[in-house]
Amino acid sequence: MTTENSTVKVGDLEFPPRKVWMKTYGCQMNYHDTERILSHLSGMNFTHTEEKSEADLVIFNTCAVRDLANQKFYSHLGETKKLKDNANIDPDTGLKKNVIVAAGGCIAQTEGKELVQKYKQLDFAFGTDVVDNIGEMVYRAYSGDKKFAVTSWDRSENYSIETKITHGSPMAFVNIIKGCDKFCSYCIVPFTRGREKSRRLEEVVKDVSRLVEHSGVQEVMLLGQNVNSYGKDNEESLGQLIMELEKIPGLVRLRYTTSHPYDVTDDLVAAHANSKKLANHLHLPVQSGSNTVLQRMLREYTVEHYLTLLQKMRTANPEMIISSDIIAGFPNETEEEHQATLKLLEDAQFDFIYSYAFSARKGTKASKMSDVLNDEIRGRRLREIQDKQLKIQEKIRQGMVGKTYRVLVEEKGLNKGVTKWTGRTSCYRLVHFEPETPESDYQWHWVDVEIISATALSTQGKIVRDLGKKLQ
Ligand code: SAM
Ligand code: SF4
Repeated sequence: MTTENSTVKVGDLEFPPRKVWMKTYGCQMNYHDTERILSHLSGMNFTHTEEKSEADLVIFNTCAVRDLANQKFYSHLGETKKLKDNANIDPDTGLKKNVIVAAGGCIAQTEGKELVQKYKQLDFAFGTDVVDNIGEMVYRAYSGDKKFAVTSWDRSENYSIETKITHGSPMAFVNIIKGCDKFCSYCIVPFTRGREKSRRLEEVVKDVSRLVEHSGVQEVMLLGQNVNSYGKDNEESLGQLIMELEKIPGLVRLRYTTSHPYDVTDDLVAAHANSKKLANHLHLPVQSGSNTVLQRMLREYTVEHYLTLLQKMRTANPEMIISSDIIAGFPNETEEEHQATLKLLEDAQFDFIYSYAFSARKGTKASKMSDVLNDEIRGRRLREIQDKQLKIQEKIRQGMVGKTYRVLVEEKGLNKGVTKWTGRTSCYRLVHFEPETPESDYQWHWVDVEIISATALSTQGKIVRDLGKKLQ
């Protein structure tokens, strides 16, 4: 690759400076894939733009987990038709731009070929396991090859990558395992992300050390659909990995997501007790408070097992706060089963939950169950779950008032006309606070904030101490 007059030569093609616009749907894994894609494309002279109308290349990173995310993508894809149909004039040259449109991610993995055939404006589609080949696909598109779909799986035995970051923030997502072997009966992920494969512990430690040393990273979120399965094939484990990462000087905080209760091991519980860097937060999706529903979901644990785990975690780290995912209205869920979920909310005392009405995903076992429930019942149960949780969470959050938390500041914004900075505590709660002076700049600073008021959804504080950008 050579650079001449701001044009980059890749193979036989010249790549002038171009802009890429991306829309990401779904989970953190997708957001991280987007980051990887942008990083690869920067080597082909693409800069990221937030303005779709400026883009030469438009990429959708799709999510198939629930119907809502699906619908959003199809509606946004529909809008790109005018980018191609109407005269889309480049303000610099006055010429019509050749906008390339692509779709990646989970929908593209299972429906890539159909998508490119059906949508005239779509030039190519690519699956979840070929994200790191985006350069080749963009090259193909600019060579004139159109209407192709790349949805192959990476067949190599090992999962080996280097984390790419494109932002200047001290927080980085680091994939440690890909895929999922669990096949919960409602979930499309094993079909869109393939089989579980872990990176080697040594590789992850080197990767994180490099990010800390050379990219200013201080907080790392270890990612995977089921991080608790990490390392199984290599006789390594998440608990072990955490204790190794703990040793990296300059790394301040460690998080991981998402966990499956079945695979939480004693060494992970011990890591929560022994690690000084592991955050005081655990996201542990339970999905339902009914054992019969959990069985139909193929979750492989009981409510009792789940509650025992919470107790172990809270004993290991008394500061630990726990969040969860709940699905309302799983096929044929009875009123009694639904009530059991409401009771679980009481017993578990989650700090927050992500809750969803069940949505049938094609190809999953749950989508083939004959089902007596309808949207109205699902909607009502979801509202009941959310209302109950908000009351619980309001009480828990009130307990924060008067306490001081260390916060990593992420951004500033206007709240009812007042400038406020926002960051996260170790326990993953968002905290808003006003600057000491209008000029104070806390971007990516560590600050200590005393909580002065809290509701179920918002926590306000006042700054006690500004510790600056680097915390040792
Ligand atoms: N791996 C995680 C786990 O084991 O719980 C979750 C990953 S999934 C992408 C994120 C959440 O989406 C799930 O925890 C579940 O609550 C929700 N979800 C997945 N499939 C769903 C479906 N068919 N309908 C409604 N919610 C669903
Ligand atoms: Fe989906 Fe279950 Fe795998 Fe989570 S563990 S990604 S819910 S199949």
